[in-house]
Amino acid sequence: MSEPLTEYQGKATMEKITSLAKRRGFVFQSSEIYGGQSGAWDYGPLGIELKNRIAQNWWKEMTQLNDSIVGLDAAILMHPRVWEASGHVENFTDPLVDCKQCKTRFRADQIPEANLAGKKCPECGGALTDTRKFNLMFKTHIGPVEDGANTIYLRPETAQGIYVNYKNIIQSNRMKIPFGIAQIGKAFRNEIVTKNFIFRTCEFEQMEMQYFVQPGTDEEWFNEWRKRRRAYYEKIGIRMDHLRWHQHGPQELAHYAKDAYDIEYLFPMGWKELEGIHNRSNYDLTRHTEYSGRDLQYIDQDKHPGGTSRFIPFIIETSAGLTRTLLMVLCDAYDEEKVADKGNAEGSGDDWRTVLRFHPNLAPITVAVLPLMKKDGLAELAQDIRNELKEDFATDYDQAGAIGRRYRRQDEAGTPFCITVDYESKDTGTVTLRFRDSMEQVRVSRRALAERIRSEIKGYTPRRV
Ligand code: ATP
Repeated sequence: MSEPLTEYQGKATMEKITSLAKRRGFVFQSSEIYGGQSGAWDYGPLGIELKNRIAQNWWKEMTQLNDSIVGLDAAILMHPRVWEASGHVENFTDPLVDCKQCKTRFRADQIPEANLAGKKCPECGGALTDTRKFNLMFKTHIGPVEDGANTIYLRPETAQGIYVNYKNIIQSNRMKIPFGIAQIGKAFRNEIVTKNFIFRTCEFEQMEMQYFVQPGTDEEWFNEWRKRRRAYYEKIGIRMDHLRWHQHGPQELAHYAKDAYDIEYLFPMGWKELEGIHNRSNYDLTRHTEYSGRDLQYIDQDKHPGGTSRFIPFIIETSAGLTRTLLMVLCDAYDEEKVADKGNAEGSGDDWRTVLRFHPNLAPITVAVLPLMKKDGLAELAQDIRNELKEDFATDYDQAGAIGRRYRRQDEAGTPFCITVDYESKDTGTVTLRFRDSMEQVRVSRRALAERIRSEIKGYTPRRV
């Protein structure tokens, strides 16, 4: 039995979010004029700003605010032996079944057990094929000759780039355990079923951090990183009652994992994984030692009391999808609000607004500057103010149409602050500052604007209606 829809799910449907994303230039279908390419999406002007902002915010949290974590940007193409060592060539598979009748393809672990056992298609009731294993890695060739010796893979996760560089980073940056390496980048998986917009795609981006710890301290660090990652979502204003933990049972645990928890988010289509926190034990580095013939032991100069001086570190991984986080942020921010009640019983003619309540640190546009009128020098004054704010904030300028409609446009883009330049601005040097969430307006002197916006961002608390 399906659970009743929450108020949020009633408002924020995938359909509305997909259509808003396209209409406002967040996300477009890839190669749309050719009928679209499934599993791939393009990020438009607002989408790339939002994606960059999410990535920068995560990067700052991991590196700038954390003395023990450094960054890396490894190549997507890696030596093919990496994927043998990591276990991906052998184990990175999904179980696949096809319906012989309607030809729909399913992941066997995602259809009801009764259907699988009875070999019955959940869509049309037709017969299902046997379950086959299907490797999710994209394979291609490097160089002009297409033969097995030239096989190369598009990386299915960014993590391996970190493991193969771990010794380089210890040596170049004198890192001492415990320490971490953070990386953001593209990953590719030949997903059997891609649906729900950008939730599951063949090309996506990950934000991964691998934390290298002494064996025996891994469980403690695992719990610590679970705590930190949850706290992070609170910091960026996500509804905490839309997050929950899911611990992997023995059947679900990946081949490398000692323990694993997902942070799940309540998407419009239900609870789904947002980020995985994994205790990968010493699996990866042990395997790379074996396959590369290099000694990947950590040499502990300080000799931990009771510890050994040479060991293969354990790894705690936090692995979040950047593009999936973007979808989560869009869903979480989405709201529809009645702004004027016309008072008639059936509600017709009431005025509604769609608003994306992004945290100001994530919003694609931070400040929009709007002249009340184009004439009488107001447009020039507004442009001038915008130019002044450009250095410090992502700004927009809009002089087209009635002011109310311009506010609605900015609400829908998630712009937290609008500045309106009116006749009084010319005389007094003040402007109105309008807040997206409350729609309140205050008068602020032009000279104090930047400082005021900065302090509003710092003190921002999410407003839920
Ligand atoms: P699933 O079992 O749902 O296929 P997974 O558990 O294998 O996914 P991980 O390998 O743990 O996923 O990937 C870490 C994170 O990367 C996920 O939490 C998700 O945010 C993101 N991610 C993984 N696969 C995809 C994809 N196909 N599209 C978008 N994001 C993805």
